[in-house]
Amino acid sequence: MIKAAFPGSFDPPTLGHLNLIKRASRLFDSLDVIIADNSQKKHVLSADERLSLMEGMIGDAGISRVRVVKWDSLIVNYCRENDIKVMVRGLRPLSDFGYEFELSMINKTFNSQVETIFLPTDPKYFVLRASSVRELILLGGDVSRMVTPEVEALLKERLIP
Ligand code: ADP
Repeated sequence: MIKAAFPGSFDPPTLGHLNLIKRASRLFDSLDVIIADNSQKKHVLSADERLSLMEGMIGDAGISRVRVVKWDSLIVNYCRENDIKVMVRGLRPLSDFGYEFELSMINKTFNSQVETIFLPTDPKYFVLRASSVRELILLGGDVSRMVTPEVEALLKERLIP
């Protein structure tokens, strides 16, 4: 039984995240999507909102063996407490690699039991990141291929005065 975790800010959850969750869920017996609930970081959506949107997206996509949780401490501690040995992270352009690689080294020093596995993005979502979605919404751009209508509606409510 191999249990995996997919951590992130998911502010907001995007179709790129969902694609990665769908693919990772086929590789492992269970997948915990961990919503970082870090009060030091400023998020547009609250952890509860991100959790409920993510749960809705996963349910609508019919993806099984996945649960969504909030966590306010080190991800490696979540892995230790839940006996998870694999952490999944997504890679988009090469520029993601430096950051993700360093993060995996740091995590390894905190919990040597956890292996990080990188999954390349689907080409459809290569240029998609949460910060671009927030910017596009502010500028009135079309984000329909990036997020679900529910995510778009809530972000508009939050970002557009
Ligand atoms: P973002 O990088 O979009 O701000 P997060 O920081 O919450 O989102 O990312 C959580 C994880 O999801 C990271 O491993 C990131 O590489 C991955 N990810 C984000 N967007 C995509 C995408 N479009 N395709 C594949 N993986 C992605």
